[in-house]
Amino acid sequence: MGNIKDLSLAQIKDYLVRMNEPPYRALQVARWVFQRGCLSWEEMTDLPKELRAELKEQFSLTGVTLWQKQVSRRGDTVKYLLGLGDGQAVEAVFMRHRYGRTVCVSSQVGCRMGCLFCASTIGGLVRNLSPGEMYDQVMVAQRDAGERVSHVVLMGTGEPLENYEQVMVFLEHLTAPYGLHLSWRHITISTCGVVPGILRLAERRLPLTLAVSLHAPNDELRSRLVPVNRRYPLKELMAACREYVRLTRRRLTFEYVLLDGVNDSVSCARELAYLVRGLLCHVNLIPANPVPDRPFVAPSPPERVAVFKRVLERAGVKVTMRRELGADIDAACGQLRRRVLGLYG
Ligand code: SAH
Repeated sequence: MGNIKDLSLAQIKDYLVRMNEPPYRALQVARWVFQRGCLSWEEMTDLPKELRAELKEQFSLTGVTLWQKQVSRRGDTVKYLLGLGDGQAVEAVFMRHRYGRTVCVSSQVGCRMGCLFCASTIGGLVRNLSPGEMYDQVMVAQRDAGERVSHVVLMGTGEPLENYEQVMVFLEHLTAPYGLHLSWRHITISTCGVVPGILRLAERRLPLTLAVSLHAPNDELRSRLVPVNRRYPLKELMAACREYVRLTRRRLTFEYVLLDGVNDSVSCARELAYLVRGLLCHVNLIPANPVPDRPFVAPSPPERVAVFKRVLERAGVKVTMRRELGADIDAACGQLRRRVLGLYG
């Protein structure tokens, strides 16, 4: 039995028309499913009874179940471990910000990109998530928090641009009036630098935010930390970023995880400033979250972070710092899943 949320609106319409239903039924169904997050076909009282029975035979209304949750001490971050139909599990994080409510969504079970400091990649890629499995991460968090979600970031486990089609169906549902009707401006896709995906997304000219996980200012270091750089080196990546900004006119975010003694020197900061000069962008600095069995830690003493930031700012680069929400709840990508499923060493 398939999850109805895996279908696009056009596919739902096709299905209903084949059942001799009028086309407007598709929107009726979509509103129940995507807007209200209804979990029982019986409740959809404006649909004919026989149709409800038929749909119930064919489709499930959710692809995930809440297995575990952890709330941060301050209560502003909640991490969910969600079970999938095939026994796999993914993580999603709910964050309460001053400006709204954000859910950080996973796009894959595991990841094959192999970034050295990231917990999600230990054990490699298991599979892509379907549009419904991504949508239900948002719905579970929204229901549990009892608060409307306003922002979605694809910064959980996985490389969203390696699951491009299914991510796009998910985003279509998120932004549609029959769905959560999120503003495209409140959606962020984070990529480790899959150049063809960046260019493909640029062509769509969507007003979402693209975040590129840079983490190193030169090919030698970046190829070590972020292996996809061997395939798409910085020259190609930066050209794709410039093309993205040219086509979308959107400010790009560069994520830079600061790893003590690895990429946090003053000379790295200078090199980084030079690399991003002239581009409509800002750099988001993230002191590393330690991952078990990995040698990386945040800069020490912590003032090194401030020094790095100042060098960038003096060179005219806009810089933000990621607030460390939820470091006490295994919030670094993929950590809760690994711990609960016993996947560490
Ligand atoms: N594959 C995508 C999205 C998932 S990672 C990407 O690479 O962007 C989301 C962000 O978390 C990335 O910027 C990633 O580099 C960062 N991240 C991964 N492991 C981390 C850790 N141990 N500490 C801090 N940030 C980490």
